[in-house]
Amino acid sequence: MDRVIVVGGGLAGVRAVEALRSKGYEGALTLVSAERHRPYDRPPLSKAVLAGESDDTTVDADWDALRCELLLGERATGLRLDEPGRGGTVESTAGDLPFDGLVIATGAAPVTLPGEGRQHVLRTIDEARDLRARLTAGARVVIVGAGWIGAEVATAAARRGCAVTVVEAADTPLAGAIGPEVGALTAPWYAEAGVELRTGVKVAEVRDGGLVLAGGGHVDADEVVVGVGVRPVLSWLEGSGLLLERGVVTDGSFRTYMGEEAPAALRPDVVAVGDCAAWWSHRYGRRLLVEHWDTALNAPEVAAAALLGRDAVYDAAPYFWSEQFGRMVQYAGDHSASERLVRRGDPSDPRWAVVWLTGDRLDAILTVGRPRDLVQARRVIAAGTSVDPEAIADPDVPVRQA
Ligand code: FAD
Repeated sequence: MDRVIVVGGGLAGVRAVEALRSKGYEGALTLVSAERHRPYDRPPLSKAVLAGESDDTTVDADWDALRCELLLGERATGLRLDEPGRGGTVESTAGDLPFDGLVIATGAAPVTLPGEGRQHVLRTIDEARDLRARLTAGARVVIVGAGWIGAEVATAAARRGCAVTVVEAADTPLAGAIGPEVGALTAPWYAEAGVELRTGVKVAEVRDGGLVLAGGGHVDADEVVVGVGVRPVLSWLEGSGLLLERGVVTDGSFRTYMGEEAPAALRPDVVAVGDCAAWWSHRYGRRLLVEHWDTALNAPEVAAAALLGRDAVYDAAPYFWSEQFGRMVQYAGDHSASERLVRRGDPSDPRWAVVWLTGDRLDAILTVGRPRDLVQARRVIAAGTSVDPEAIADPDVPVRQA
């Protein structure tokens, strides 16, 4: 392999470049990214950057040592593939870029709401800086979506003295991510921070001056922030012949497929990784589309190895954290098929956790201010071993296998 193109300059893109070089790839390497900035970290955007504590989150990478050409502010617009194993050409605003190995790392883009009014989303550093400038004391800030991003923006806006309202379609915060029962345990945090939380409210559109609600009525706002989820960036791949579903479909090594539907032919010279990839999890026996920093950090090692023709499989359990309303919230595992929920401590205390079990197997954990529990549980989840269901309900007993 002599010419590798990486499309997308987020964390997954830069980590793919680093992994290719560390694994001994010596050929030409080009990273194409639509943003004009060098790759930077996104988690601080809704935390330290909005809070005014940081303005630069650039990833520390030595681009000269990596011998990587950076095409910043350039966008891939299409993909032409040659015979399997023979590479192809990325069509881009910088011209045609031929390759014999391709890493797709175009991440995800925020979903927006209908309507002509100004709405902020938070994905890029430019958007974070623009929003921060508008979070002035007394400004009426309405946030649509009580998910991870919505809660973090509400935290920053309230700290900056804004009058904050969060409007959520579900009956609790975080219902989609952690389920309504656990999501409800976070609802009191909003009022404590002086944030009005309105659940069960559907938005019809954004107009200048605020929101129009689906059932009639409106919510007045100086600034509207929309945090209702993201979608993988795939449009430039349409018509390429790659198998696309909600993300770029890959095997457990991030190798893509050609064809309309699975099972399709593997395309080992094209890998997809990070927020844009729907990868096969051997652990869970289904495809996962994980929009988390930890996956963007660690999965490119495997994708790079696979592109270089080596055996490697990614089989980590998902991990995520969020900093909201003065609390560190961490989640590991997958509870989507779990049988039951066990509380570990009192959720009205500053520090508590919940675990999800199937039989005696620990499927997932959510911790609030209990990082040690998280680390211990992650080990048990990774090993797939069982726990003592009675002991795990006791916050004074370490999380360990039975
Ligand atoms: P991205 O970071 O989205 O990077 C993709 C890059 O590709 C972008 O620069 C994009 O402009 C570029 N691109 C897209 N299309 C093209 C194209 N056609 N041509 C060229 N370039 C293109 N995760 C956590 O686990 N914990 C957190 O606390 C947390 N906080 C977050 C806070 C915010 C505000 C955001 C936005 C995300 C947060 N995340 C968090 C999620 C985490 O940041 C993402 O999972 C991670 O950034 C994904 O990295 P990526 O490289 O796959 O995609």
